[in-house]
Amino acid sequence: MRAEILAVGSELLTPLRSDTNALWLTERLLEAGIEVGARTTVADDAALLESAFRAALSRADVVLATGGLGPTEDDLTREAAAAALGRGLQRKVELVEQLKARFARFGRVMSPVNEKQADLIDGARALPNARGTAPGQLVEEGPRLLALLPGPPGEMQPMFLEQVLPELRRRSGGALLRTRVLRIASMGESDVDAALAPVYKTFRNPRTTILSGAGQVELHLVAEGRSEAELEARLEELAAALRERLPGRIYSEDGRELPEVVAGLLRERGLRLALAESCTGGLAAARLTSVPGASHFLERGFVTYSNAAKSELLGVAPGLIAEHGAVSEPVARAMAEGALQRAGVEVGAAVTGVAGPDGGTAEKPVGTVYLALAGALGPRLRRAHFPGDRERVRQQSVQALLEMLRRALLRLEG
Ligand code: AMP
Ligand code: MG
Repeated sequence: MRAEILAVGSELLTPLRSDTNALWLTERLLEAGIEVGARTTVADDAALLESAFRAALSRADVVLATGGLGPTEDDLTREAAAAALGRGLQRKVELVEQLKARFARFGRVMSPVNEKQADLIDGARALPNARGTAPGQLVEEGPRLLALLPGPPGEMQPMFLEQVLPELRRRSGGALLRTRVLRIASMGESDVDAALAPVYKTFRNPRTTILSGAGQVELHLVAEGRSEAELEARLEELAAALRERLPGRIYSEDGRELPEVVAGLLRERGLRLALAESCTGGLAAARLTSVPGASHFLERGFVTYSNAAKSELLGVAPGLIAEHGAVSEPVARAMAEGALQRAGVEVGAAVTGVAGPDGGTAEKPVGTVYLALAGALGPRLRRAHFPGDRERVRQQSVQALLEMLRRALLRLEG
């Protein structure tokens, strides 16, 4: 079964208000085993709305519209949907009475403009709205289903869950979808794909998509099945085969990002960390402190951008920097050692590199980065070369440092 979502409202086409309804609905539909074929955002314009409804109804099994069910001139969803279906709209006396009663409960008299909220498309079922005035509507058009839902998320969500989703589940025959996300840091997308595609391509269920971001690659495994147990078994079978192809490389399968994983391991081992950062300017500390409870393992971070700072704050010998350069193996080691000593912790970690766009040389081009660990997890050192612009080099450097910590914590090579 395939769905389309129409988000109605001119405000959604400005930078002032974003369409959160469509994403929320997409998540619920996917959980119910219904894929979303298209999402459209449409202004409060009768002709545009009518053509958007026609297009969606010509393609999808289920069309969900949100917004435009209010009482004002620019609320045109009912009229546009009726026109697209070639059906009439009737004002329902019983709905008018329900609206009046709702106003009376709040000690108010209903304004006549609200009456149009009682207009029902011929053949539609009204969906009561316990949290607002606008009733929704459910229309069957042959095998297709159209639902009109209110715009405010607080009204739309319960109406969808209570009155539309059960109908969709009946129609989809109880199929379920579940996604598992496998994350891998510090490997390029093509290397990951070369290793894993021969495995995941042999599976039709789950289906796999590969996505890459700054310093990490994600595999999204989507399984289809009839029970939670079946979904879990299908996902686990493929995940186990993928783990075997890249031992120790998949750092998370449960939604956690790398800083959370590293934080968990440091806490488990009772190790405290001090960071010395040059080209990343504190980004590694920022990512680790975004994890709640970071004070349990992160003691401090040094942002030592200049040579003087590396010497003053970390005790790196000026002669070492003069001889090898600030971006070098000995200086990275000395930074990690300095952070360890000055902070009096168990683990020191350092990163120094050429983020660009200037400062590259033939020997150390832009993107050259040295990463070092000292103390209980060291010594470890890695020289890396990251592609991309300044921001990408910095992001990849942070990921690589965190992955280095993770591997050291798990006593994995590399
Ligand atoms: P409407 O039913 O079009 O009058 O919308 C009423 C209010 O619901 C709007 O002012 C928005 O605050 C909210 N709203 C409408 N559509 C959406 C949407 N797609 N996502 C999030 N909020 C929405
Ligand atoms: Mg609106």
